[in-house]
Amino acid sequence: MLRTFCALFASLAAVLCSSAASAQPRSAETYATSSPRTLIRNVNVVTLDQRGVLQGVSVVTNRGRIEAILQHGAREPANVTVIDGQGNYLIPGLIDAHMHFQNPNELAGYLRYGVTTVFSLGTPDPMLTSLLETRRRIASGELIGAHLYATGPIIPQNRALTVDQVEPFLDEMQRDGLEYIKVYNEIPQPVFDALVAGAHRRGMGVFGHMPRRFPPEYTITHGLNVLAHMEELFFTTFQGPRDAQLPDLTPDWTPDYSKVDPILDLIAANHVAIVPNLVASFNFQSLWADEGRMLATPDFQNLEPDVAAEWPGQNYSHRNLIEKRMLREQLKYPLLRLLTYRAQQKGILLLAGTDAPIPAMYPGRSLHEELRLLAAAGLTNEQALRAATINGGEAARRFVDHNACIGVIQVRCEADLVLVRGNPLDDIRHTQEIVGVMTDGRYYTRETLDRLAEPRCNHEPCRP
Ligand SMILES: [Zn+2]
Repeated sequence: MLRTFCALFASLAAVLCSSAASAQPRSAETYATSSPRTLIRNVNVVTLDQRGVLQGVSVVTNRGRIEAILQHGAREPANVTVIDGQGNYLIPGLIDAHMHFQNPNELAGYLRYGVTTVFSLGTPDPMLTSLLETRRRIASGELIGAHLYATGPIIPQNRALTVDQVEPFLDEMQRDGLEYIKVYNEIPQPVFDALVAGAHRRGMGVFGHMPRRFPPEYTITHGLNVLAHMEELFFTTFQGPRDAQLPDLTPDWTPDYSKVDPILDLIAANHVAIVPNLVASFNFQSLWADEGRMLATPDFQNLEPDVAAEWPGQNYSHRNLIEKRMLREQLKYPLLRLLTYRAQQKGILLLAGTDAPIPAMYPGRSLHEELRLLAAAGLTNEQALRAATINGGEAARRFVDHNACIGVIQVRCEADLVLVRGNPLDDIRHTQEIVGVMTDGRYYTRETLDRLAEPRCNHEPCRP
């Protein structure tokens, strides 16, 4: 199978299969700039900005960037690789603003679903070496996959720091090239304050949960940049039942709706972005209700074995409380939808994110599920799609990589693009009808991506 694959896709195989042979890996810049000049001809471009949908234009990419957008009938450059876009729609490469790096091969799976950039939110120390190596290999073209932005260890879940350890920790993260930090539930306030000050001084964003040892209002007004899940408000502002309180949970639990506007107004005023992450709550309910159905998909076969082993029988170690956990999600979910809708109305920057590959969150696929759930929560299709593209690009620029130009289809920005059959502004499910994906200016057909996502094809280079 792998042999056939490498023979069939000779040029791709040259990239995939050369890692052992090439002594000198190319730098990211060299790899992107060595991409061929390509013309996507006669396509409908969904810009998601004031230009609207550009009908029947051609997009020229060169050296990993968008070089030009040509009106119908304009003279085309010579010596280009042509992709026929007739009747199809071009959207910016999708951005999953909340996932966890587990395994190098998963990143090809994201690409298969049109996700060209991911934000990994927390890497335990033992996985850090693999993450950094994977980034290097993707940047050099040895490995094909989504671009990976990442934090180091989650504080304090993966590493408990004292205030004195904060500056050396941040120096270490910066040396490794990690772009932002992630804070978690049990962080003490002095450590949070020191981390925020040090991170911001270095231009690093602060992502995270809502710490539980001090009020959410403090976190919002003292430097959190991106809230990793909307459900953090359920647990803090709305005092939703934590695990220890589950035995006492009854169906008549109701949130205090008068708290919705004040907390969101504070978030809006402080320019904190939010990842609604509706899909986690939604898919947990599906998994617990019908595990067989959730796991009966080819995507399950494509999960790395160590990840797949975590999914069946999933109960987060509270099997005896599964009915109560289900009840909690049923009570939580309508509040998450309401908060998401109101946050959009208040102009809060919403970022599509999945928390994949936690159980029931398939890498790549779950981002399309999140889009559908955002639309079902009352966002327009355009607002939903913006959460996975232009908004992610803005978050990247503000909190992650100040030179990023992603999530948009604009001249001089990254040539990260997805060709789909229908217009997602008419029906958000059209994002799932992927014809091909371009990353770093290199175009892959759906068929090629399907093969790349097979376990072990990508990260153990195929050899003829
Ligand atoms: Zn997460």
